[in-house]
Amino acid sequence: MRRAGFFVEVFERERTIGGRIATTRLGTETFDHGAQYVTGRTTAFKTYLDEMVGLGYAARWHPRASLNGREGAGQMQPWIVGTPGMSSIVRPLAESVRVHTGRKVHTLDRRDKAWHVWFEDETSMGPFHAVAVAVPAPEAQLLLGRIDELIQPLSRVRMSPCWSMVVRLDEKLLPDQDVYSDMSEVIRWIARNNTKPGRVSNGDSLVIHASPAWSRKTEDAEPEAVADELWSEVSHLLALPPVRPTRMTAHLWRHGLVDQSLGETYMYSSEHHAGVAGDWCHGRLAEHAFESGDQLGRAIINSLT
Ligand SMILES: Cc1cc2nc3c(=O)[nH]c(=O)nc-3n(C[C@H](O)[C@H](O)[C@H](O)COP(=O)(O)OP(=O)(O)OC[C@H]3O[C@@H](n4cnc5c(N)ncnc54)[C@H](O)[C@@H]3O)c2cc1C
Repeated sequence: MRRAGFFVEVFERERTIGGRIATTRLGTETFDHGAQYVTGRTTAFKTYLDEMVGLGYAARWHPRASLNGREGAGQMQPWIVGTPGMSSIVRPLAESVRVHTGRKVHTLDRRDKAWHVWFEDETSMGPFHAVAVAVPAPEAQLLLGRIDELIQPLSRVRMSPCWSMVVRLDEKLLPDQDVYSDMSEVIRWIARNNTKPGRVSNGDSLVIHASPAWSRKTEDAEPEAVADELWSEVSHLLALPPVRPTRMTAHLWRHGLVDQSLGETYMYSSEHHAGVAGDWCHGRLAEHAFESGDQLGRAIINSLT
């Protein structure tokens, strides 16, 4: 939209942009506690990733993996990770737009054929010609409450929570493998974050994801209790010696993973000049989110020119 000459403003609830493509800090180490890597099957996203690799914002990751025969050493697409953290992949996208962080949108209000964005502190910004809501479907439903043609189809979408735990170990304790998937009914993913390119670590920095089913059951539990339980399960599964990690912490992605998508790349109402985009529109991965946002941007350009 910037390239087409539009002025774009982004309102982001958190202190940094990137959403579920996220990097967090624990002590001196950084961990990718959301998306682990990205793949680019569509030309647009592949081109973007190639550019990011060329500029040093991303690199290829070749983990020693056993992925239950799904996507192992012979994976079809290279695994791309942000450097020095996953969130670096997203940053260049925001360079030419005005980003307001720490701004949770409370209400979208359309009056006199223009949009006004209201925040929790009862301040507002606007007018805007069009609005693009690029948040998980359950949150989009809250923001688009009055536009039935966009709201109704959203009830088809199902998203699951996902507990993500980051663990710092002073010594290398894991067997010689960097990635483990679908380990048990509780543990879906274990990765040695420090084996990604551009990360430096003496011991091991692990990222562990719980399964959607277990995450749903424990959605309201305290993060400390979840971390203890997940670590005990990982220790058991990998037959680790009884070592307490130097540091560990758990985070819940409440609308983390897509179970059932909408089945359309994006939705846009040219009557209201409002649209929705996200991974949940027609997939479950970062590349689906990228394509969805790209297509919604083009639809907005067409409707305003
Ligand atoms: C644990 C986990 C592992 C994953 N692993 C992978 C992987 O390996 N590979 C892969 O391709 N994908 C993976 N994914 C999925 C990938 O992260 C998503 O597909 C992608 O990030 C979706 O992007 P999005 O822009 O649609 O939504 P999001 O990333 O969720 O971005 C939405 C943004 O909107 C903000 N927001 C929400 N509500 C408001 C509001 N009211 N006001 C202002 N801002 C708001 C949020 O803070 C967030 O920044 C994983 C996801 C999780 C949770």
